[in-house]
Amino acid sequence: MRIGFIGLGNMGAPMAANLAKAGHQLHGFDTAAVGVDGIAMADTARDAVAGAEVVITMLPNGAILRSVAEDILPVMETGAALVDCSTVDVESARSVAAEAEQAGLLFVDAPVSGGVGGASAGTLTFMAGGSEDAFAKAAALFDIMGQKAVHCGEAGAGQAAKICNNMILGVTMIATCEAFALADKLGLDRQKMFDVVSTSSGYSWTMNAYCPAPGIGPQSPSDNDYQPGFAAELMLKDLRLSQQAAESADADTPMGQAATALYEQFVEAEDGKGRDFSAMLPRFERRRRD
Ligand code: NAD
Repeated sequence: MRIGFIGLGNMGAPMAANLAKAGHQLHGFDTAAVGVDGIAMADTARDAVAGAEVVITMLPNGAILRSVAEDILPVMETGAALVDCSTVDVESARSVAAEAEQAGLLFVDAPVSGGVGGASAGTLTFMAGGSEDAFAKAAALFDIMGQKAVHCGEAGAGQAAKICNNMILGVTMIATCEAFALADKLGLDRQKMFDVVSTSSGYSWTMNAYCPAPGIGPQSPSDNDYQPGFAAELMLKDLRLSQQAAESADADTPMGQAATALYEQFVEAEDGKGRDFSAMLPRFERRRRD
């Protein structure tokens, strides 16, 4: 299949490389000077998408997605599919979907979970929104780049699933970290805390699979001085998207709101930027109640 790939950063480059390795013909474009094995780089986004059956975008945010879409939709082949794998706001996904439909094109919003490791290993999870036809067109490519693709509903449903999942993740990471810091102050051994909680009703992915306490539980970024992993600023981006969506849908999300405020403070006023999102634990360790 001829594929155009726009946005070859930390995530996009390994995803595109996996598609090329599987025998697809890739034409890439990025505003930064990047080179990826097996991919012919084009001078413009329009050149990269010319003649492509599927165009994949992996971009930083919704505003950039909208401007790239405005540029490329008019030159895409009728019946081709635009598959946006970036994490963006639900409204941008729905707006680009409507423009694609008007231009006689298919659209899928397909944000991913799994991070850079999953992108390199081809083990991402895709959460997809769009028509059956659009999803069917992208499905074989999801199989190469990932291990699971869930068709969540119409356009925007993939982004909705992603931000709801990550709102839970942000909230539970904070809960796990503040509980560890409280346990410390109560004189409870961290290993004992893990042994109990990981097999009791407080268990969660953040405790059991990604424990924020160094040396406890399976290997995680806390064992590597909180090098990301999943950086705190990316968690903040997703929490902000959840609050933007909650506002437009008039949903009450007090825990999501509190988690957004805490990660905002951690990233913008403290030392959180560039650290894994589980570095909330040393943050709470240093603090007192006030
Ligand atoms: P990144 O910043 O490494 O890559 C984005 C790329 O887009 C860059 O190479 C940049 O030069 C390029 N770009 C920006 N504007 C462009 C334009 N107008 N035209 C063409 N290229 C342009 O970011 P990333 O880590 O690869 O993340 C990409 C998306 O994936 C984001 O939406 C992010 O939220 C999401 N995501 C990231 C992770 C992760 O762990 N990094 C995990 C899940 C989802």
